[in-house]
Amino acid sequence: FTVGFSRIASIVFFGSIRVRPLNSKEKKEKCTEIQKITGKTIAVTNPENKKETKTFTFDYAYGTSTGQDIVFNDLGLLYLENAWKGYNCTLFAYGQTGSGKSFSMTGDLSSETTRGIIPRGCEEMFKRIKDTSSELISYEVRCSFLEMYNEKLQDLLDPKSTKTISVRESTKKGIYVENALEEPVESYSDINRLLEEGNKARTVAATAMNSESSRSHSVLTIFFTRKEKKGTATTQRESRINLVDLAGSERQSKTGATGQRLTEAAAINKSLSALGNVIKALADISSGKKNIFVPYRDSLLTRMLQDSLGGNSKTIMIAAMSPASSNYDEGVSTLQYADRAK
Ligand code: ADP
Repeated sequence: FTVGFSRIASIVFFGSIRVRPLNSKEKKEKCTEIQKITGKTIAVTNPENKKETKTFTFDYAYGTSTGQDIVFNDLGLLYLENAWKGYNCTLFAYGQTGSGKSFSMTGDLSSETTRGIIPRGCEEMFKRIKDTSSELISYEVRCSFLEMYNEKLQDLLDPKSTKTISVRESTKKGIYVENALEEPVESYSDINRLLEEGNKARTVAATAMNSESSRSHSVLTIFFTRKEKKGTATTQRESRINLVDLAGSERQSKTGATGQRLTEAAAINKSLSALGNVIKALADISSGKKNIFVPYRDSLLTRMLQDSLGGNSKTIMIAAMSPASSNYDEGVSTLQYADRAK
């Protein structure tokens, strides 16, 4: 038991797979489902060769009928609990465009049941803040919301800003983002408003660049500070929660892409593979391997998240995939990416 317990305490990475239901286009095309989920294991069968089945095991495996509440109970509560303990936390969604990343992260805000892990987590956070605030304990929450496109940062909360936003490092602050707006928030509806404004700005920016928002990463960071008075002294613990909706992981057609599309694809490739390599290195460290180099500096995304990946931080991944036979290759590639992290 003790061994098991210390293993849980030292786990720095939680990986999950989530398969969305077939959409109407896939149904119309008579696509079949390639996956079979048993407990934490997912098996996918090649539609062109039914004898070829690949299996992968994760901390959680969610099928087509898993609701937002279940995913939140497993993964959302995990990042909140970590924040209360003072750990930094990064939760990200990986997968091809249309696989369900935004559905898991933000979801459909118009109904209780379809809201994703971010609105649920924020609401729960403010509920806990209210329940635990006292004369001695108080909290401060700030939010920033950034977009990363072609290895450059844009402030979604201040889209007209002409300041250069860059990732810096100092001994006092650690890794921080310079010139990004950090808005104080006092309720879930404050965050909701920022999310809505930011997502609108993201779409506008993408259209202006003749692109799509799925070609950029977005990072919502919650700066969470808990203050506690003890006699005349006040102790303060700050943690950061990064909620990352990654650009679509689909492979670009090798011949078609030129100019802007090629630059976009190269930037996305660079950051997704850097993130994969960092997580692989962290997983090796947590499984006891020695002398592992963690290549944070290989992309802007991993550099920006450096303080929240590894060390005492917790990282949670939702790998999102389509069940459709027509997406078999992309599905396998998503599973393989997610699988490297173990
Ligand atoms: P992505 O962010 O990866 O591009 P989306 O989250 O926008 O993909 O999902 C594509 C579509 O599939 C959306 O219409 C979304 O509502 C739907 N969808 C995704 N995941 C689920 C799910 N688990 N259950 C029901 N619908 C889903």
